[in-house]
Formats: sequence, structure tokens, C-alpha cells
Amino acid sequence: MHGSHLHVLDHPIAKVCLTQLRHRATSPERFRVAMQRLSALVFTEASRDIPLVNMPVQTPIMDTTGSIFASPIVLVPILRAGLGMVDGILSLVPDAVVAHLGICRDEETARPQSYYAKLPPLLSSAEVFLLDPMLATGGSAIEATRQLKAVGASRIRLVGIIACPEGIQAFTAAHPDVPVHTSAIDQRLNDRSYIVPGLGDAGDRYFGT
Ligand code: URA
Repeated sequence: MHGSHLHVLDHPIAKVCLTQLRHRATSPERFRVAMQRLSALVFTEASRDIPLVNMPVQTPIMDTTGSIFASPIVLVPILRAGLGMVDGILSLVPDAVVAHLGICRDEETARPQSYYAKLPPLLSSAEVFLLDPMLATGGSAIEATRQLKAVGASRIRLVGIIACPEGIQAFTAAHPDVPVHTSAIDQRLNDRSYIVPGLGDAGDRYFGT
């Protein structure tokens, strides 16, 4: 399961942020801060290999060579919980485009239902970061990736906070070409398709619902 396409962030700051997210007594306010920080940390690793091009830059002292991103960066949060990852990542890449995919889980069947899509035309030339904090059954991420590929995206990475073996297996079987970045791999899913030990419902905790 730990193939070259699965990346688990190993960093003390990430572990402390993750602990705050897991703790049931963490307030929505502190939950948001920890989610944004940890999202930025996971994104930093997930974006490690995005291509750059040189550009000339004039410092106050002399001309030299700097770097800019070779392609547009597109963040695609899966509504609703994926929204909680956007602001932290935008603090690092403020020029990124933010697209949206609305996919919810049918509470009875736990299967993904698509209800909204706003995807920009530049996806085929972009570095695409699909944001889904909890890789549980993998259903939403699999469906979102299918939709992104259908409109021409080819360089896609899945960026999350907690994954579980069931979700990783399902996602990598469906999309073996898409790297998965997370800050933890938890034990398993429970009978309601929640990750154990997990952090509960990421959307409810982020939005205070
Ligand atoms: N979505 C969540 O928010 N939490 C889980 O544990 C699983 C899916």
C-alpha cells in the first residue's frame, strides 16, 4: 500500500496540528487555525516537484535569475470539508485559481453524489491539487478525480489530512497515476464510514455545525 505515490508528512509541527484537530475539545476557532496550518504544510510537500521556469530579476544590487511557476496552480476543494484547506494553501500560493466540486456522501449508501462543479478551462495546462481532508471510503475523491480527468486535467495530486487503508486502496486502484499526500494514515473505517480514530466530521468541526 505504501507505494511511491503515497506520501505521509513526517514533521513535528504537523503532528501537533493534527493532535489539535483530533482533540474533541478543540473549539471551531482553533480547529480552523490548525486545519489551515496543516493544509499549508501538506501542500508544501505535495508541491515539491512542480516545475519552475527562470525569470530575470533586478535586486537593488544587480541583475540575477529568479523563478516563477511554469504552469498555473489550481486548487479544487471538494465541498464542503475541502474548503477548510483553501485559505492555508492560498497563504503560500495567493495567485492560485480555486475551482469547486460539490460531492456529498449519501448517508444511507455512503456513495458519492455530485451536486456542483465549477471548473476553469485552464485545467489541462495546470498543476491541479484536489483537496479532501478525509480520505475515508475514497468515493468522493475517486469521483472528483474522474471529473477532473474528463475535462482534461492530467497533472493531479490528492492532498488531505487523514487517510485510512480502505480509502487509499480504493483511490489508488481507481487512479494509480495520482499521488496521494496526507499527514496521517489511521487504523480503519467504522461501520458509518468514519475514520478511526480520525477527528470526527471535518466539515462540521470546521464550520461549527
Ligand atoms: N469525512 C469526515 O469528515 N470524517 C470521516 O471520518 C470520514 C469522512
